[in-house]
Amino acid sequence: MSGHSRSGELFRRALSVMPGGVSSPVRAFKYVGGEPLFIRRGRGAWIWDADGNRYVDYVNSWGAIILGHANAQVVRAATRAVRAGSSFGAPTVPELELAEEISGRIREAEKVRFVNSGTEAAMTAIRLARAYTGRKIIVKFEGNYHGHSDAFLSRAGSGLSTLSIPSSPGVPDEVAGLTMTLKYNSTDELHGALSKGDVAAVIVEPVAGNMGVVPADREFIRALREMCDSAGCVLIFDEVITGFRVGMRGAIGIYGVSPDLVLYGKVIGGGFPLAAVAGKKEIMSMLAPEGPVYQAGTLAGNPVAAAAGLAVLKRLKAAAYESLESYGSALQKGVEEALEEAGVKATVNRVGSMMSLFFTDGPVKSYDDVVSSRKENYVKLFWGALRKGIYLPPSPFESMFFTLAHGRRELSLTLEALKNALKEI
Ligand SMILES: *Cc1c(COP(=O)(O)O)cnc(C)c1O
Repeated sequence: MSGHSRSGELFRRALSVMPGGVSSPVRAFKYVGGEPLFIRRGRGAWIWDADGNRYVDYVNSWGAIILGHANAQVVRAATRAVRAGSSFGAPTVPELELAEEISGRIREAEKVRFVNSGTEAAMTAIRLARAYTGRKIIVKFEGNYHGHSDAFLSRAGSGLSTLSIPSSPGVPDEVAGLTMTLKYNSTDELHGALSKGDVAAVIVEPVAGNMGVVPADREFIRALREMCDSAGCVLIFDEVITGFRVGMRGAIGIYGVSPDLVLYGKVIGGGFPLAAVAGKKEIMSMLAPEGPVYQAGTLAGNPVAAAAGLAVLKRLKAAAYESLESYGSALQKGVEEALEEAGVKATVNRVGSMMSLFFTDGPVKSYDDVVSSRKENYVKLFWGALRKGIYLPPSPFESMFFTLAHGRRELSLTLEALKNALKEI
């Protein structure tokens, strides 16, 4: 934080050899200003920075960590796997067992293909959808994030049914023009978009977690299913965050709606690089070598990552989701009381162990609602909390995540810190 901290020194070194000093943009603290902390270690709900300060962690690898850092069972499973050799480029038992576990819990996941990141999973899903339908156009929604492949970097915030233009240099117009970005939680623009019969897939985060937490309305998700059925296009749920986090069966379980394809990531890798595309046999069987759609990966289904992921899923039974919910409801209640006490207007959105705070008066249901919230307030909250040992996501567009390791003590420290930080707003 300060100019002569160890983190500060490390960050200056990083700036000279890594673009922006980081391996992924949000980590750089650009939104909140100042310098990022270098994290040296984590245990349970806590992380320690390079200067030895400790914090209650609400980033948790952007949702990848759900049992807490360095969980003993995960460490044991990963250690045993790595001792047996870290990669072979051949079939292994952990990936088979993980596929069976996913498929056993999620009836919609008839077949599973493992990849290394959510980005790859989304990329593979749209290739499959295009091959399956013989169509080109992809429909996505404002404020939803599906990784950084070209097809998904189209402007979030475009007008009614307009073909989007690239928001990142390096994405050709011809590619961006194949993606339509529509309003989240609204079907107004969908009829028009689907009417031409050229849409291969509609991809959605059923509980959006990349503009803060914005759950979709039930009617919206149901309408998507019906409209995709009548338009003959593939419905893809991006559950890279929500899968195995918001419940036993993720968002599929919450909404009771079955997609054709579903994407997993984050939680299923137990903190290692692992993600998956899963879904209907009919579509999944088009993947090489069973079918003609090419997709491959040197480290895909890596046995260390799969063993770690399996150890995590084994712990995630009904009781685990009950504890996450009870921590979440107490946290939400405490934050709402603190807001009231401080006389600060804000909306708290929460689904299970994902939560966010928007400094705005009304409900937050769309990307427009999110961007109209007051930025300065979040920045103040972030630094106020950090000073008191609470590590919030360094951007209001990201969800707070908590884990099974977050307990009574962490809760009271968090609420005390947030109360103080809110008073200064
Ligand atoms: C994180 C995320 C991705 C991308 O996953 P990476 O592993 O970062 O490539 C895709 N979709 C959603 C909903 C995500 O939250």
